[in-house]
Amino acid sequence: MDYFDYRDGRLYCEEVSVEEVARRVGTPTYVYSQRTLLRHYHVFEQAFREIEHLICFSMKVNSNLSLCRILSGEGCGADIVSGGELFKALKAGIPREKIVFAGVGKTASEIEYALKSDILMFNVESLAELQLINELSGKLRKRGRVALRINPDIDPQTHPHISTGLKENKFGIEFSRAKEAYKTARDLNNIEVGGIHFHIGSQITRISPFAEALKKIVGLVKDLAKEGIKLEYIDVGGGLGVRYRDEEPPSPEEYGRAIMPLVKEAGCKLILEPGRAIVGNAGILVTRVLYLKKSGRKEFVIVDAGMNDIIRPTLYGAYHTIIPVRKGAPSQANSSSPVDIVGPICESADFLARNRDFPPVQSGDLLAVLTAGAYGFTLSSNYNGRLRVAEVLVKDGKYYVTRKRESYEDLVRGEEVPDVQN
Ligand code: PLP
Repeated sequence: MDYFDYRDGRLYCEEVSVEEVARRVGTPTYVYSQRTLLRHYHVFEQAFREIEHLICFSMKVNSNLSLCRILSGEGCGADIVSGGELFKALKAGIPREKIVFAGVGKTASEIEYALKSDILMFNVESLAELQLINELSGKLRKRGRVALRINPDIDPQTHPHISTGLKENKFGIEFSRAKEAYKTARDLNNIEVGGIHFHIGSQITRISPFAEALKKIVGLVKDLAKEGIKLEYIDVGGGLGVRYRDEEPPSPEEYGRAIMPLVKEAGCKLILEPGRAIVGNAGILVTRVLYLKKSGRKEFVIVDAGMNDIIRPTLYGAYHTIIPVRKGAPSQANSSSPVDIVGPICESADFLARNRDFPPVQSGDLLAVLTAGAYGFTLSSNYNGRLRVAEVLVKDGKYYVTRKRESYEDLVRGEEVPDVQN
């Protein structure tokens, strides 16, 4: 459910015309709908109302300050993976006591920053990291609150690049070593053991992997309690999928019904780290057709957004529905279908869609890449000297540029050329 709809054949985001935004702000541009974002957040929130829980929005998915501020205004926390995300979370007004910090490669300075900021918990991914948090906590006269990220070795049945809970993935501590790790953590002077964390992958479209993983984790929580290690939180990570094409992911209610009883059984409070399910359908990427081109039997629609702006199709072969911003066939349009919709980047892997049946388009037409709110802008880059695009928020009938399109000056910011003779 989202608030991107056609009115008289033109695409609107809530009450705002997408054409109008493109005319004023240019293309490519990410356009976010506040109403959609809030709706998804509230559906999630409601699905877990029966038990004590905290939603920590996963900032890697979309760290636009305005979106994060809207979420924090609703009581949402943040799942972060770097000092940079911590900085942005605090800037967006997310309370420090609602921030959890995961990631396999936290540096000493990032750990110190998080300790000084007094975040809720580190989701610790290795014993070496645990030792470092202990050491740095001692130095700063703090107690480092931790959950250990345990790898439950469950196949999430998603794309291999976004599966994280299998033994061969780099994330977390092996399940068979979990008890030992908890004993080590308990015995460290400057560590407070607060919980347990797992995250098995992303774009998961079935309930069973979540339930299976959580059952294993709850079993472990009970065993630990017998050893005198009582955990306050179970953090189940993120992972709930969204519909890009014809997937039928479980609703947050179904997800809630499957996991809440298990968390209750463990007697813990729940932390959730959804990302995609909150923001995926709340954003589109608006792009303009530059050229049409035929090569042999192939027909290309060349647009001004490339893999540097939205990398999911290139990275995972991901499917995004693409629709025209204005419905109806123009006169000079291409005729044949299917087409490849490709960007301007000098890589054959630079495509938004391949072999896609598509209505006729012509140069100058605007297209909207749907479900682009998650892992869109955050994965964008300056590759090929391209400027990162603008981000626009639609809210209460108006639109706001929440991040300006970069300028050429931005491309060289921080660079220094030494004054040396060749
Ligand atoms: N939590 C952790 C630790 C993650 O690594 C991720 C994404 O990979 C998320 C949460 C968010 O996942 P999703 O966007 O699938 O909800």
